[in-house]
Amino acid sequence: MIQSVCILGSTGSIGQSTLDVIARNPEKMQVYALSAFSRIKLLAQQAAQSRAKVVVVPDETALKSFKSAWNSPQPMPEIRLGTEGLKQTAADAAVTTVMAAIVGAACLEPALAAAQAGKRILLANKESLVAAGGLFMQAVRDHGAQLMPIDSEHNAMYQCLPLEAQCSAPTAPYPTIQRLLLTASGGPFRQTDAAALHYVTPAQACNHPNWSMGRKISVDSATMLNKGLEVIEAHWLFAMPAEKIQVVVHPQSIVHSMVEYLDGSILAQLGQPDMRTPIAYGLGYPERIPSGLGLMDLMQLGRLDFSEPDFHRFPCLKLAFDALKSSQAACVALNAANEIAVEYFLNEQIRYTDIAILIAHSIEQIEKNTHDLSHLDAVLDLDEQARQIAKQYANTLRAAH
Ligand code: NAD
Ligand code: MG
Repeated sequence: MIQSVCILGSTGSIGQSTLDVIARNPEKMQVYALSAFSRIKLLAQQAAQSRAKVVVVPDETALKSFKSAWNSPQPMPEIRLGTEGLKQTAADAAVTTVMAAIVGAACLEPALAAAQAGKRILLANKESLVAAGGLFMQAVRDHGAQLMPIDSEHNAMYQCLPLEAQCSAPTAPYPTIQRLLLTASGGPFRQTDAAALHYVTPAQACNHPNWSMGRKISVDSATMLNKGLEVIEAHWLFAMPAEKIQVVVHPQSIVHSMVEYLDGSILAQLGQPDMRTPIAYGLGYPERIPSGLGLMDLMQLGRLDFSEPDFHRFPCLKLAFDALKSSQAACVALNAANEIAVEYFLNEQIRYTDIAILIAHSIEQIEKNTHDLSHLDAVLDLDEQARQIAKQYANTLRAAH
């Protein structure tokens, strides 16, 4: 059966790589729906080129922009709006496969809708697992959805699992796994002097040494909060306790992660730092399909290095480990406050070093009360509360500078 793919966030870095892989495999898959929040002109081009049947845009203004940008002789796709449009499209009967590549917690509701509709979900977005991993994994189990991790580290670990453990939503760690070894490049500031971090600019933070990514995840990689979010993501995907997840700094980004077994064997997945590999793995599974990558020259590379992460220089990584060990509410606050902090940092309203301060403050405030997060509405409410707390504090910090 030909897969009919919905790409949530098609104009982003992951979205564009997904379109590239689909275009290389037309006999196996086609695009059904695309979505974008901005860059509506690009969305119109993508829709015309991929012959999408449906597009989702945020509001009436974006709908008008889409219509005026449409200059193809083909019939215009159906245009749906907002979160409701995203949920409806992710659950659409005509869709077999959903690529969840919207950035931030905004992906949670549509990804959950895909899970509830029992789709094959290629999950690039990690924030939805951080905010509501328990609810999401339960929905995958309850509705027989198929969950494939696309984040390169988690995709690597998935590839290193035995076939019977490649289950969509395990409730317990696979018994013979001793540890997950989660590799981290260390980002652009791996060797930057701690004192100098106070003065780094958004452009420097977005200049990742190995990967080309959206701006939010690039800043997350610079603070290593991205690795923290990935620890929480691995916890939910593989039902693994925090103690059995070790972060290993590996500046070359060639070993994408490893699984260490009871007998001492460590299985690793290696490859070039290009997201088309995990995307092709997810789209092609259980087969291997072309991704557009050439051969990797190991001789040219010469060596692979590994070292310990510096929790002092990267306090966000510690905050994430602590949040995971502490409570789900702390994880919601960690993610929400970070989204606000990164936005303010990118707008040059707070400093890079304020990001960790803002997150710590928001978690502290949120954890003053206990929270029942067994329903989606409660998670969304708490997410909003944490955003408000973070915004208020960001404005105070901004005034102080
Ligand atoms: P990006 O910023 O390049 O693209 C984000 C996409 O989401 C765009 O299409 C944008 O229009 C859409 N979007 C943004 N805000 C939205 C909102 N509020 N509602 C609906 N749509 C919205 O981001 P990216 O780098 O492609 O990352 C996407 C996700 O994948 C993130 O969760 C990121 O952590 C994860 N991820 C990315 C990479 C990577 O290499 N880029 C690797 C691993 C995981
Ligand atoms: Mg990653």
